[in-house]
Formats: sequence, C-alpha cells, structure tokens
Amino acid sequence: MLYFSTEGRAESVPFRKALLNGLAPDGGLYMPAEIPNLGSDFFQTAAASSYPELASRMILPFVKEDIPESKLNDICESAFNFDLPLIGLDERIEILELFHGPTLAFKDFAARFMARVMEYFLQGEEKELTVLVATSGDTGGAVANGFQGIEGIRVVILYPSGRVSRIQEQQLTTLGGNITALEVNGSFDDCQRLVKKVFQDKELRKSRAYSSANSINIARLLPQTVYYAWALHLAGSDQPVVFSVPSGNFGNLTAGLIARRMGLPVEKFIAATNANDVFPTYLEAGEYSPQPSRQTISNAMDVGNPSNLERIQNLYDGDVSAIKDDIVSWSFNDDETKTAIRESYKRYGYLADPHTAVAILGMEKYFKESDSKAKGIVLSTAHPGKFPAVIISTLSDSQPVPEELKIPLRKEKHSILLSDEYDDFKEYLLNM
Ligand SMILES: *Cc1c(COP(=O)(O)O)cnc(C)c1O
Repeated sequence: MLYFSTEGRAESVPFRKALLNGLAPDGGLYMPAEIPNLGSDFFQTAAASSYPELASRMILPFVKEDIPESKLNDICESAFNFDLPLIGLDERIEILELFHGPTLAFKDFAARFMARVMEYFLQGEEKELTVLVATSGDTGGAVANGFQGIEGIRVVILYPSGRVSRIQEQQLTTLGGNITALEVNGSFDDCQRLVKKVFQDKELRKSRAYSSANSINIARLLPQTVYYAWALHLAGSDQPVVFSVPSGNFGNLTAGLIARRMGLPVEKFIAATNANDVFPTYLEAGEYSPQPSRQTISNAMDVGNPSNLERIQNLYDGDVSAIKDDIVSWSFNDDETKTAIRESYKRYGYLADPHTAVAILGMEKYFKESDSKAKGIVLSTAHPGKFPAVIISTLSDSQPVPEELKIPLRKEKHSILLSDEYDDFKEYLLNM
C-alpha cells in the first residue's frame, strides 16, 4: 500500500516512510492510496476475534508490505492490553470508554501502537530519531508514555503553558529519560505551527531525523479505526449505529470515516465540538475558515484549525454535501457541557469528563432532531479524574466528591519554558 499526500505535490511512499516522515514534504497529510472494503460480513463476525486480533486483521491490509503479520500480531497484542467497556446510559445510548489505558485517555490506543511500530522500524538504525509532538492536553501524555524508554527515540513534547489540567501536565512533565516537555508561552495552535515548521526546515532536518506523533501521522489513525468496529460487536447490533465523537483535531472522526469505508455499518457520525466551531460552521457555510483557538473546559478539543479536515475533504473529494450525508456537527458551549455533566451524573449515575459530555450532548440532540431508530454510541475519550476541578465545581455542593475522580498525583514536574517564536524552538532543537 502506498500513501499519497493530500497536497498532491509529494511522491507517494510506503507505510514505513509515511510513518517516519509524519507530514509529507509538501506540507500535506498522508492518506492510504486505497481503503480496502472488508465487507459487512467481516464486521458481523468480528466478534469471533479478541480485540488485538481484530486490530491486526483491520490494520494488516494497510501495512502488510512493511510489517510481517506475525510481528503486527505481537504489536497489537502488547499495545492493546487494557479494558474497553461499553456502558449503557439509557435504553438507546451507550458509552464506549476508551480511557482505560495508562494515561487514562483514548490517545493511548494510537500512541502505544505507533511507538511499537516505530521501534520495530528503527531496529538496527544508527541515527537517533526525534519525535515531535504538539499537545492540547492528552496526546503528549499518551505519546510520552508509549515511547518511554524506547531506544533510539527521543521525544520532545510542546504544550501550551497554563492551558492543560494539572494531571495532564503531570503526565507530560514527570517521565524524564528520553522524554522532554517544552512549556510554550502560547496556544495549542502555536505549538502545532512550531512542529509543522520543522518539517519544512531543510537546515534543521539535515542535522537530525524528525518525525511527528500528532494525529497528522497516519499511523495514529489506523489503530483508531478498530474500536469503532469493536463497539458494534459489544453493542450486539446488526443494524447500523450512530457514533458521537468529541472532536478537536478530527483524527478520531477521520478514523471512524475510514472504518466506514472499510464496510462498517454506520448510520451517521456526529462531530461534537466545544466552542471551537469551525467544523460545524464549515458544514453549514460550505466554506472553511480557520479561527484562533478558544479556551474551554474540554481543552483537548481547543483547536481552531483542525489538521485532519484536509483528510476528510480528501475522502469526499471536497464535496461538502457528501460530507453532510455522513456527518452532522454541532458546537456546545461550556455552560451546556457543565449541565450535561451534572445531568448525566444525576440521572444515570454516570460521571462524564467534559469531552465526553460534549459528545453526549451531540447524541441527545441527534435523537431529538431525527427520527432515527439506531443505537447511539458515544465515544468517551478521557477519564473524569483528569479534570477534577471542572467536575467538582460543576456538581452541586451537597454531593460528595465522587470516587471516580481520585487519581494519585506525586512526581516532580520538569519542563523547559519556551516562547512561541520559531527561532527559539529551532535554537533549542539545534542545541539539544
Ligand atoms: C484529543 C482529544 C479529543 C479530540 O480528538 P481529535 O482526534 O483531536 O478530534 C477529545 N477528547 C480528548 C479527551 C482528547 O484527548
């Protein structure tokens, strides 16, 4: 399988190269030249496999020239070794909890897979690889955790100072070893801009090999297709379902769209966003206009220029009405999100983190506004305990602090402060 660049000016490359490049040299994102349709039978019988087996079967067609099947089996077996429960909220809505990995966020799926594949590709290489990752909160922790202690790889994380939760910051800044955290005086979009620039900087790339672990990397998306299929099996549904996806950079949603192209029966995707509403606005207006990101309580979705939009446009040949056939998108503000946290705890005894709450709102709105009979599956992307301050201030005073919120905090923070100027970042990388 070859991977082409959405910008169309770079040559197509095999999976290995697409993964190691991160971003294509023309600034585009890599996409698989072909999305194999496995047929709906495949997904009906997916139940026969374990999760790692299903993962290996779904990913293999995309990577088989570069990773032998037995190696891919091993990678999936070791990457996906945590729980993935589907919890009923009411008769129609179920929550797929994607946060039972080591950093308590769904990004563990992608990061653990990617780290293992990179390790495999770099075996026997002399040159050290530097993996750059811009994070709005959860990516950095998941990537750092996935890559911790992996030989031949250095990880540099950029995160927006003061805009991640205390626990997220702890997960980014306390690992040490081959992991360095840069605390950038700017927004997530600034961090992302700095990382993207490195890939167009020939001088810098001469001295070291760089890759990126953001959702711009195609290797992040492939493993995320799998839980959509697994959810269908857990739901025991032979009818198409509706997925509500809390979206920021739209990697998660793009993976769902790829799963659907592979034959997974999906009635609709709901792209639920916080106040950063460029995607719903794009679907409505038919024209895309990126915005500066706005700070919200679902901070991992504070993205004003979602990278994966390019992939979505590519999947649909830029046809907005075709996109609208498959995806509805709404934006919800912080007050609505807090109400959803409060209500779902009160009504169902279910404690949702702010990102999941946005997706619950999307699902409820969809069922209110359509005559759909489908089952609804909400992707829950983070453990509520990662956002204790928001949740405690949201629940009423008379309620005791829920047990679910308790996560231990102990280690010492190590980060390097940095401005949002590219020259400063470059200087840091040159002297590293
Ligand atoms: C990253 C993240 C999201 C957004 O996912 P995208 O793939 O960027 O759309 C949602 N929720 C949480 C908790 C996240 O960490």
